Amino acid sequence: MKIVDIRTIALRSACDPPYASAGGFLSSRAGLIVEIATDGGLTGIGEAGFAGGAAQTLIEGELKAMLLGEDPLLIEGIWQRIFARTRHYGRRGVVMSALGGIDMALWDIAGKVAKLPLYRLFGACRERVEPYASGGFYAPGKGVEELAAEAEGYRARGFRGMKMKVGRNPSTGSPNRHFVADAELCEVEPEEDLARVAAVRRALGPKARLMVDANCAWSPAFAIERGRALEPYGLSWIEEPVATDDIAGSAAVADALATPIAGYETENGLFGFRELILRGAIDIAQPNLSLSGGFSECRRIAALAQACGKMVAPHAFGTAILLVASLHFLASIPNGLVLEFDQNENPLRDALLREPLTLGKDGLIAPPERPGLGIALDPALLERYRIP
Ligand SMILES: [Mg+2]
Repeated sequence: MKIVDIRTIALRSACDPPYASAGGFLSSRAGLIVEIATDGGLTGIGEAGFAGGAAQTLIEGELKAMLLGEDPLLIEGIWQRIFARTRHYGRRGVVMSALGGIDMALWDIAGKVAKLPLYRLFGACRERVEPYASGGFYAPGKGVEELAAEAEGYRARGFRGMKMKVGRNPSTGSPNRHFVADAELCEVEPEEDLARVAAVRRALGPKARLMVDANCAWSPAFAIERGRALEPYGLSWIEEPVATDDIAGSAAVADALATPIAGYETENGLFGFRELILRGAIDIAQPNLSLSGGFSECRRIAALAQACGKMVAPHAFGTAILLVASLHFLASIPNGLVLEFDQNENPLRDALLREPLTLGKDGLIAPPERPGLGIALDPALLERYRIP
């Protein structure tokens, strides 16, 4: 079997109204689909990190030539060759984003050849996983009451937990906060963040998982102060409290707080996660399959985390392809914790699949049992949201 074509499709959908985290203001959602075709007629699909369009340029202009004519089942060989041949400008960032989509598409082909859903091909650990509702963003006109109603909606639909945003504060002790776009919009004082968390905890009840995400906005000292103030609310984790590269700072926060520290979706690759894990910067690893080299690399990160006694809760904030890939990944690893199930309105997640994922009555979710990723995309939706 040989690879005969690689196609990329960039998608974008407007967020109306837009919403914010401490790390930025989202006015659109985007995704980059990678489709790999073989001479045998099998095709695989994956989702790369969009990287503002840069991953598409890299795949079309540089990586495609390394893939054409290759055996698509030599997945590890292809992965390592791309990693090695881009080392002057790769290793992190855009190359890892491109590799995420390529690796996912190659594994999709492998699953179809093996006639197994990917989580079973990887040696399944469980048949269902627990998702949490990822939402609770800041938005214009959205106060504590509206946020509590959002949380109540997730509880009513059967979610066992939720993640919400914190840290969009005027002063965070970190200069990074002020370099994000529209930093001054929807800012709240730290005390209002506490009121927001308290209201969500009341809406969810005492037993539900509740997580907060500061999107790298805080200084270590401020993170420790805020983390202590948040302790009464029984958080399952505080996500990305400080800047991605402040590994010593994140380790200091993790040391000081009883609440686990999770992260960093903004780091990628095994070597990046090696530093986060071995230097004690995180208690829970959150690699993103699209941003971090796909199944091949994220399974290595999960193995390292397992060896160090850490759980993995993959970051999954993209289209339906990343969501389903993350579901297979989580169901296949021993230290899988929970699945991020983004609940913001996004047709690239909700309408892209011919058979959408559904939350079971028990609050759990099962990977598709069809071969590979086990998904088919709606062509009309692709055309509608395609970036020309
Ligand atoms: Mg996050």
